[in-house]
Amino acid sequence: MSGMLPSYFVSHGSPTLALDPGATGAFWDELGRKLPRPDAVLCISAHWMTTVPAVSLAARPETIHDFYGFPPPLYEIRYPAPGAPALAERAAALLAAAGIETARDPERGLDHGAWVPLRSMYANADLPVTQLAIQPRSDAAWHHRLGEALAPLRREGVLVLASGGAVHNLRAVDWRGGTTPGWAREFDDWLAAALAAGDSETLIDWERSAPHARQAHPTEDHFLPLFVALGAAGQGARGTRIHAGFTLGSLSMAAFEIGG
Ligand code: ZN
Repeated sequence: MSGMLPSYFVSHGSPTLALDPGATGAFWDELGRKLPRPDAVLCISAHWMTTVPAVSLAARPETIHDFYGFPPPLYEIRYPAPGAPALAERAAALLAAAGIETARDPERGLDHGAWVPLRSMYANADLPVTQLAIQPRSDAAWHHRLGEALAPLRREGVLVLASGGAVHNLRAVDWRGGTTPGWAREFDDWLAAALAAGDSETLIDWERSAPHARQAHPTEDHFLPLFVALGAAGQGARGTRIHAGFTLGSLSMAAFEIGG
């Protein structure tokens, strides 16, 4: 394909979305249909955490069921997409050119942050996929740098798909699905407004600039992938909230298209 793809940040929610996809599943399905077909996908998932950046060279990535105590049918789901070792090497080379050393994992598979949305977007599992890990001990600025280094991929037919959660506080999750608390909505709307304004400085400074920052993200892991997508979208890129909603009370399912 030719042209530039936007980058994306999706909130993947609970693993049970794989069994009960609801409105968010329908949105992912539609997104996959509407996007120009990429040659490959680089997924930055909240569920692969390393101390230094890492990419997966797996030629046939296994489906990782990295969750506990969920219904048995969830553990039977396989997403047999081919791996993308050439893309992984290209990503590592781009990071190296930016002075960022990257580890190669020979066999890391796809975690549910990757396969739950991809299974809706590309149900045929025929697009090559590789993952780039996040570094939970590093901040938003670091992940933004990773994204900036990877920006050329968007011209090379690669879909940069970051997967985490726009509001993700597991202690605040209401498994009976109560009403969405005000702090969750306020953070979600702050994020949408800052992305719409293309204000990457404010976004990178989210711990100080966002309302209820630490309530929305007691740990950063589900938010950090966003900054890779933001950096990959290029300087001043604006983001559009293309899907909104909450599940289990405070868990945001928001998705953003950035740049393009
Ligand atoms: Zn998750």
